[in-house]
This record gives sequence, C-alpha cells and structure tokens, in this order.
Amino acid sequence: MAYRRQLREISCRYRVPQRTVAVNPEELAARGVTVLVLDFDGVLAPHGATEPLPEVVEWLHRCAAILGEERLFILSNRPDPLRADYFRREFPGVSFISGVKKKPYPDGLQRIMELSGAAPEQVMLLDDRLLTGVLAACLAGTGIIYITAPYVSLAKHPVMESFFMLLRFAERRVIALAGLLA
Ligand SMILES: [Mg+2]
Repeated sequence: MAYRRQLREISCRYRVPQRTVAVNPEELAARGVTVLVLDFDGVLAPHGATEPLPEVVEWLHRCAAILGEERLFILSNRPDPLRADYFRREFPGVSFISGVKKKPYPDGLQRIMELSGAAPEQVMLLDDRLLTGVLAACLAGTGIIYITAPYVSLAKHPVMESFFMLLRFAERRVIALAGLLA
C-alpha cells in the first residue's frame, strides 16, 4: 500500500492520547486551517448516538466562533438522518455531507473542498479510524488529527463498542507490522 508509511507515521505521532475537545481551534486557525471536517462516531459521541456529547457541543461552539459555522462539515460513514436533523436544528450553518463514497475514498473530502473553495492544506479532518478517515485524508492531501482517545460507551452498546475497539487496535497493529516488514 502506497500510503503505508504515511499511516504508520501518523499512527506513531500520538504519544499522548488525542481527545476531540483537546483540539484547539485558535491553534488550527493560526496554522492556516480554514475548514474543519468532523467524523461523528467516536469523535463527537460514542457509536450509535444521534447527538454530540455536551462537552463536544460546547467545543463546537468554540470552533464555530473561531472558524465560522459554515466552515464546519460533518463527514461520517453513517450519515444517519437523525444526526443531520440535529445539526440543521442546532448548527444550521454546519454542512452534513451524505451521498458520497464512504471513507477511505477521498470523495467526501473532495466534495467539501469544492463546496468551501478551500485548498487541501487548509482542510483538517478529525477521525478516530486509521484505515477509513486517516487514509481518506492521506488520499485527499488534507490535514488529519487522529483521535486516539475516542468516545466509547461500553454500557450502552457493549457488542458494537467492543467490536470497534478491537478494530481500532487491529488496524494500528496491522500498520505497525506492515512498517516492520517493509
Ligand atoms: Mg469514527
């Protein structure tokens, strides 16, 4: 895989677990980021939720104040209509992308660049999956913040959350081993 090295480099970058709300929108803006793209599951809330967690809502307001609400995009591989309804109601300027090929295809990020007129280096994606979101960002040439401390709710969805925890662990191991064998 051509992007194996890049994925491994990104995977190894986070010595301290990266949380969504620890991302500082002022710092992003200072680095030239003008468009923020957010995955939903794990990044805004645990799997299966229809609304972002309260601390994330507060953080979204901070991001909107710095970058502008219309510069925020939601790109989830599960574009649930209830989630789209939430954003229409609470953050009407935020675009909820659907009807594009799922990540790791770069189509969603390319659509966002068309809509916003932003260059790849002005776009930052936050995603908790190496082989979907992170890979899509590598393919589209955008920035990526790999959320290595995603939101999980084992109490609500034990089977689904365990499955995704295993998947996140497995993809990190696969990329690390691929690096050793390269
Ligand atoms: Mg996710």
